[in-house]
Amino acid sequence: MADERSFLVIDLGGTRVRAASAACMTLRLTHRREEPTEIEGGPDGVIAQMVRLGRSVLEESGEAARVGVSALGPLDSRSGVVYSPPNLPGWKMVPLAARLEQALGLPTTIVNDANAAALGEFYAGSGRGHRNMVYFTISTGIGGGVIADGRLLEGSCGMGGELGHMTIDRHGPICNCGNVGCLEVLASGTSIARRFNERLSAGERSIVSEWTVGRPATAADVSRGAQLRDPLASAIFTDAAECIGVGVVNAIHVFNPELVVLGGGVAQAPGLFDIVRSMVERYAQPAPRRAARIVPAELRGDEGLIGAAAVAREQDKHSKSGIL
Ligand SMILES: [Zn+2]
Repeated sequence: MADERSFLVIDLGGTRVRAASAACMTLRLTHRREEPTEIEGGPDGVIAQMVRLGRSVLEESGEAARVGVSALGPLDSRSGVVYSPPNLPGWKMVPLAARLEQALGLPTTIVNDANAAALGEFYAGSGRGHRNMVYFTISTGIGGGVIADGRLLEGSCGMGGELGHMTIDRHGPICNCGNVGCLEVLASGTSIARRFNERLSAGERSIVSEWTVGRPATAADVSRGAQLRDPLASAIFTDAAECIGVGVVNAIHVFNPELVVLGGGVAQAPGLFDIVRSMVERYAQPAPRRAARIVPAELRGDEGLIGAAAVAREQDKHSKSGIL
């Protein structure tokens, strides 16, 4: 419908900035824009890029009711401030929502990328039709989002659902966040590669070395080695997948979801779901275990924009009902 109200949505990632118009009711995306993130420009450069892409969308789509933004965390969705994301050098306590609001002249809401992806899957991907869903994104890092009774669980300062930093092993290695034995430091793609390369450096052997001459192995190499039944690659891959399984068991016990969605590159590795499901079979309590299906994410790239649109729609409802 040409006359339907729309939101401007922007997805700020470490490598790409995307923007689009999203229909208020259906969250359907149109007028897409996408560019490599001009990361070297620091906050001023990246915000100028977001504003330029946003204006370009608005020129074609016409007026928008408000702006929804998915951005790299950590950030405080309540105050609209982005802290110091490791993938955005030079950013420190940047009031992103306020700056976009000023430049675009529209009320702006921000949400962290993992929560946005969870909302995207909930409304337009594998979560459609459900009420309680836990979403893990497992790639270079591990993020997450929790939908409880149909709403994103934000927590007291907008940092709920940080599933990657649940403690799995209190005697484990030190995580980027400073804590010990987080899921992320045990099972992210970066960690799988690091743990494997450390064992090679310590003198262990692997078939993976045959095709990684002159470069360190990646998580994809370790997954391929595991498929070829290489003992070292299998041990590292299985341990990481079991740690994800422990994380999923914890999430099932805490949130009692109907659906656990696993997204991100590592979740696509062959065999990962089998290991996760067998951990759940072994360790989760029977009733919540039977209630929860464990499924792959469906969306490939649009989840951040759709999640940003969902957050904008939520704010829109609140502002109309006078809550804000
Ligand atoms: Zn951590």
